[in-house]
Amino acid sequence: MSNELIKELCNTPGVPGCEDEISKIVIREIENSCTSYIKDSMGNLIFQVNKTIPNAPTILVDAHMDEVGFIVSHIEENGMLRVIPLGGIDPKLFYGQRLTIWGKTQIEATVAAIPPHISDKAATGATPVEDCLIDTGISAKKTRALIKIGDQVTFSTDCVIDNDRILSKSLDDRIGLYVLLETIKKINKKSLKCNLYVSASVQEEMGLRGARIINSNVNPDFSIALEGTVSNDLPGIPTHKKLAHLGNGPEIRISDKYLIADRGFNNYLQDTANKKKINFQLTAKNAGGTNATAFQVTGKGSKATVLSVPVRYLHSPSSVCLLKDVTSTIKLLTAGILNIHKFKDE
Ligand SMILES: [Zn+2]
Repeated sequence: MSNELIKELCNTPGVPGCEDEISKIVIREIENSCTSYIKDSMGNLIFQVNKTIPNAPTILVDAHMDEVGFIVSHIEENGMLRVIPLGGIDPKLFYGQRLTIWGKTQIEATVAAIPPHISDKAATGATPVEDCLIDTGISAKKTRALIKIGDQVTFSTDCVIDNDRILSKSLDDRIGLYVLLETIKKINKKSLKCNLYVSASVQEEMGLRGARIINSNVNPDFSIALEGTVSNDLPGIPTHKKLAHLGNGPEIRISDKYLIADRGFNNYLQDTANKKKINFQLTAKNAGGTNATAFQVTGKGSKATVLSVPVRYLHSPSSVCLLKDVTSTIKLLTAGILNIHKFKDE
């Protein structure tokens, strides 16, 4: 486990369309463990891990590089800014937050919060993100020199890790990306009995956009989207709505709003986990969506599923997950890849 790499992945900005800095880290970490890689027209990275084995199954494992965030959409006369959200962000979580604007330099800002003494007491509900004012406290002239329309903006929370847990922004999907990188570094490519490809994809948070063009380059038989997934295991939440629990191991997804995962492939992953004595949990829900949806239905299609680290407070300035769930996700993914040639269609 490399706490420094998790911190670097979480603290590096990468809103949809701005994944360049994250992709540099991905290349640095796994280029030497792979046979070759390409960056496609959208910016997806696709790595061929081992040399092609004729007649062996092909498996694609993906994690997306982008995080939910914002871009600068307007600069007011006085130098204050407006932003638009990229990806699903609850406006209740935005008001009063600290942000980082990635202009010519890294600039800290606050979402203007009207003090209670003078705020409109009758007003209820959250102000839409695009209507909030973003204040750097910097003069209008200097602001125009440093910041331009389209600059990316992220929550400014720093990643915190100790022996047990991680608190950070962007765990969706930097924790999935970390699982991917660690697994590829750990696997000896000579021991593979399948053709292993990995993708670090772009623009997932804007509707699985990057993932839709990956199958055309890989044509996998199996695909796994690695995610940080919703955990709602809080006091007061009815048991049937808690979904994945922190500490119970990776979530193998049965369904979400846009996916019915492949039953045979999921059964194979469960059998693999049972044999290796790895904790896992099953989730069937009708909300959310991941790149597995794109991998299942584009190109020639593939047997697709989602393997996820449970994360509380997804898409917020501070999500929470446990290191032991990260470790068991890496273990299950590794065993799943190494034994995929034994998969039998039911
Ligand atoms: Zn995600």
